[in-house]
Amino acid sequence: MTDYCVHCGRIAVAFNDLNQPVCPVCRSKAPKEISCDICSAMMIVKQGKFGSFWACSGYPQCNNSMSVKKQLMKNWKK
Ligand SMILES: [Zn+2]
Ligand SMILES: [Zn+2]
Repeated sequence: MTDYCVHCGRIAVAFNDLNQPVCPVCRSKAPKEISCDICSAMMIVKQGKFGSFWACSGYPQCNNSMSVKKQLMKNWKK
């Protein structure tokens, strides 16, 4: 399964300290921190069968999740 860099969306080759997929360029960056749109808890990266995705740390109270790509697209629109 191909994972995409949480910072820039390029193909990821490694994982940072928080288990977030990162490309060679973003490997040394600080881990990305985003908060949940619904409950504003921290989002954490989990590995699923379709690749890495953001999931709310408030799970199971909050079921919010989104793929790494979707999260990046959301940022680009802003
Ligand atoms: Zn990157
Ligand atoms: Zn949440």
